[in-house]
Formats: sequence, structure tokens, C-alpha cells
Amino acid sequence: MLQFSSMIRSTDDVAVCIRRAREQLPETCTGLLISIFTVESDPKKILGLARQLGKAFPAAAIVGSMTTDVIYNGGVRVNAAVVGFSAFQSSEVRVAAFDKLDTLSEDGKNFCAQAKRLKHLAAVGIFGTLHALDIQPFLDRLAPLDENVVIFGGGANTLQNAPACVFTKDKVIKEGLVAVLFSGPDLHVHASLNFGWKPLGREFVITKMEGEHVVTEIDHQPAARIYEKYLGVPADKHFSRDTLAFPVFVRRGNSYVARHTVDCREDGALLFIADLHEGETIRLSYGNPGEMVKDAKVGYTDMAAFRPEGLLVLSCYAHRMFLHGDVKFELAHAREIAPSFGFYTYGEIFRFAENIGIHNMMLLTVGFREGEKPAKPLPVRGEMPTRLKDSLLIVERLVRFVSATTAELEAANVELDRMARTDRLTKIANRGETESVLKQAITFAQTNRRPVSVLMLDIDNFKRINDTYGHDVGDHVLTATSGVLRAHVRLGDTVGRWGGEEFLLILLEADEKTAAEIADCIREDIAALRVLPDGKGFTASFGVARIAPGESFEAFYQRVDGALYQAKHGGKNRVCLAKK
Ligand code: GH3
Ligand code: MG
Ligand code: MG
Repeated sequence: MLQFSSMIRSTDDVAVCIRRAREQLPETCTGLLISIFTVESDPKKILGLARQLGKAFPAAAIVGSMTTDVIYNGGVRVNAAVVGFSAFQSSEVRVAAFDKLDTLSEDGKNFCAQAKRLKHLAAVGIFGTLHALDIQPFLDRLAPLDENVVIFGGGANTLQNAPACVFTKDKVIKEGLVAVLFSGPDLHVHASLNFGWKPLGREFVITKMEGEHVVTEIDHQPAARIYEKYLGVPADKHFSRDTLAFPVFVRRGNSYVARHTVDCREDGALLFIADLHEGETIRLSYGNPGEMVKDAKVGYTDMAAFRPEGLLVLSCYAHRMFLHGDVKFELAHAREIAPSFGFYTYGEIFRFAENIGIHNMMLLTVGFREGEKPAKPLPVRGEMPTRLKDSLLIVERLVRFVSATTAELEAANVELDRMARTDRLTKIANRGETESVLKQAITFAQTNRRPVSVLMLDIDNFKRINDTYGHDVGDHVLTATSGVLRAHVRLGDTVGRWGGEEFLLILLEADEKTAAEIADCIREDIAALRVLPDGKGFTASFGVARIAPGESFEAFYQRVDGALYQAKHGGKNRVCLAKK
């Protein structure tokens, strides 16, 4: 394939662009895609440009989007349009537009079916008016596409107070989307993602939502309050702009995804364009300029290995707003790899794990190549900045300060929490923790109808041990006993100290017979311990019970305690099963 692009600043530039393209384009091509990204906000002028190019290149498919700034060969251009030409030698491109809001889901289904019929589908590109419309119903329908098909896209964006549009050769769409299918037997597409935002400060929990896009409460407070309290951003008409560099991070599995707040309601509810859910853990975040630039280099090194012939760069506008002029360091690597063009987006679209969705704060680079990659690797030198702007350096240090302080506080909290649940002498669960686990186990056993049994034991004649050998030896007997208990449980089971010399074991997936067998093994192992100074042994008595359906905590406790009482009265050093 061959890719090149032209900058357009005035009407004269259009003729130059067309002439140059005619000179550069190969005699024949199987598919020609013209991509137009423009800061122009007048739909008539946009359509005029698209039609002019359509007339000059009748065989071309045309797609485009409004944007705040355009990206052109590894740099930013303001007040301009970029016209990108992608000429394929063995691949095809097809463009479809969708602007019927009530049939988006159905349209997505049909589009997916059409895409699946293509023999060598390699990628799907989507440009949508994400600020005005939730296109998720369309995206959801693309899930059946083979996982090797790269799905990418971006939202139209504008600085003007006009709706941001997407368009084709003959249609400007204020609410809807334009989709491009890339297919070819020799077509390879590769996407790489850069991020650069880092979580900042402590975790919060989303406690109330309306649907998937409106967060009403965080930590049981009006949602906007976290921005006011922690960042001093008031809930006024500048809210969206003021919070652009501080997206919300949502913990999903082991990583975070970013969500930018697009608006704030009078009641303090926050509005998002991508999904969130009640109960999710979030954090505020902030860009770390140095890391952002470093991340970009990692992404481009990965892309260089793919050896693309052309690059499409879709970057969240937040990167531009945050890095200002230094954004050039983030984009520059593209220049060393392949011709590139792109635009600053309002929402980025890609497949993340199972989901095809809308994301925020991303820099998405998509590489295209026809044919095998050249054997010779392409080194990326990476034009690293010698020094970021002073203001960004200060930001970087403050972000580091906050992150390091938060990490220390979090580690201290985790340790405090652990200590609050642990018995100091034996290092097993203390009474409070054991009681809480027992209550959870009762609920678990009853709701899931799984066998859970509990074993309660009490050391025999422990008072005499203390009286004979002293308190220290008594303590040693307790730690040795807890060691035996720990050695007999599986992962997920709980060993707790119920009181002085009484212990409790909660055994998951164990019926009373198994629990009694385990109890007997433990009983023998305890009797075999030789920790007393004179080499004598000691013993313990056991009560065993399985949690019964519908049984309350109190009723269960009485049964297992009753079984232990029976063991004591039956002569100690024995295991007794509780009455049903
Ligand atoms: P039985 O066989 O009927 O269970 O009699 P026992 O002597 O074991 O039971 P009793 O309840 O009479 O005595 C328990 C003793 O455990 C009394 C208390 O001082 C001692 N104790 C409680 N906690 C600790 C501790 O942390 N360390 C030590 N060394 N002793 C403790
Ligand atoms: Mg005792
Ligand atoms: Mg006791």
C-alpha cells in the first residue's frame, strides 16, 4: 500500500492536494481510502471539500471527522484539515454510514453480518459522534467478529460551539457513525495503545448510579464532591474542561481503565460517555508527562516491529490539552516509522478484552501493511525530549510525591487491617475475624447449598499447664497448637482463636464425616506434641458440626459448643459430633 497526506489551510490548497495526489497515486489500485480530518465546523464547507475530492477520485471511499487539531506526520497542526490517501494494491475498503438512531442495534447486526461475509476482513474503523449519541448498541453487535479483526475508531470533536460531525463523500452526520471495512488477502493491521495517566490518591467506591453513564453518588456523597474536595474544581459550566486532565480510573480486574467526566449536573451527578457500574472502585488520576512520553516510545517501538506502510493516529484531546507543545514528543516517533495522519478525538474505540467499547484518554495508533514485513528491522531512535517544560517537570514531581505518599499510606492501611484481624500471640485470625468469617460461611453454605463444617476445640486442663510450667510455657502450647491446626486446613479454610485456649476451624466443602476425620487427625497430632519442659504431652477436646439449612448463627454456635461440652464430659481428648 501507499499512504501520504496533505495539509489544507485554504481553498487553493485543495487543488494542490489533488494535483499532488494524482502524481503520487499508483496507476491502479484495488482500494483507495481518503480520510479527511478537519477543524472546519460548517457542514456545508465540509461537504464541499468531500465532494470535490470525490469528484477528483471517483473510485475512492471517503470518510472524515471534525476535530480540534489535526495530526500530520508526527506533529500537530492547528486551524487546518488533513487529507490522507491510503492506496491499496490488493485490499479493498468499504464505507457505510448510519444515522438512524432507533435502528442502531439492528444496523450493527446487519453490518456485522456483511463484515463476516467478507473473505479477508482485517479491520473495522469507526468514526462516530460520541458526544451526541451512545453508539454502544452498534458496537455490541460487532462482538461476533473474529478476534483477529482489529477494531478501532474515534469520536468527532470540535472546539466550536457546533455539534461535532462525521461524514462520507456525500453525507454529513450530526448523530450517527461512519464505519469502514478493510479487507484483503495480504492486509495486516496492528493497533497499539498508549496511555500515560496514573491513578492518584485513594480509592473511592461508586455507591449510586442511574444507568451506566450517570454516577450520582461516590462514597455515599454527591459524585461531584470528590472533584471539589480533592481538586478544588467547582461544579460549574467549566467542569468538563477543568476535569479533562483528571479522569476517573476504574479498577477492572488487575488494571484500570479511564473515564472522562463530560458533564456535571446541578445535583452533583457526573456524566460519562463510557460505562461505569455501581460498586466499582475508582480513583482520580492525573497525567504524568514524563511517563506519557516514555509510554509513547514503547508503543511506537512495538509498532515499528510491525513495519507498517501507513499509520492512523487517534489521540484523546486530553493528551493535547495536557502536554500542550510537548505533545510533539509523544507523536514524533511516528515519523521514523511510516507516513501518518490522524486527529484529536472525543472518545477512542477499540476492543479491550471481550468488549468493543469507548475509552478515554488513549493514544491509539493503527498501522496498515500489505504483504510480508521486510526482514530488516526498523530501529526507533525516539526523539526523547532533553527536558520537558519547567511547569511539566514540577507536575511530574508533584504527581510522584502524591503517588509515593499514597502508596505508603495504602501499605500502612493494609498492614493495620491485617493486624486488626490477627491474633497477636498465634498469628491466626482473632475472635472478631473468626466470628465474621463464620457468619459469612453460614450465609455461603445456605445460599449455595454447599457443605461447610466447623470444628471447635479446647485444650484440656490448660489451667494446670499454666500453673505447673508458667504462663510462658502456656503461651508456647497455644502457638504450637495453632501450628498443628494450620497444617491441617486447605486454602480458603479459616483457623481462628475463639478465646483463651479455644480454637475454631471453618472447613469449606467438608461434611461432618470429613470434618470429624480431620478433627481426629488434629487430635492425634496435638497429643503427639512435645513442647512441655518435662517432655510430657497434652490433649484437646473437639466439637464438630455441619452448618444446617436455615440455621441461625446462634443456633449453630450452640450445637457446636454443645458437642464440645459433650467431649469434655465424656472424658476429654476426643471428638464429638453435634446433634442434628
Ligand atoms: P478444661 O480441660 O475443662 O478445658 O480446663 P482448662 O483448665 O483447660 O480450662 P479453664 O477455662 O479452667 O482454664 C483456661 C485457662 O487458660 C485460664 C487462663 O488463664 C488461660 N489462658 C487464657 N488465655 C491465655 C493466654 O493467652 N496465655 C496463657 N498462657 N494462658 C491463657
Ligand atoms: Mg480448656
Ligand atoms: Mg476453655
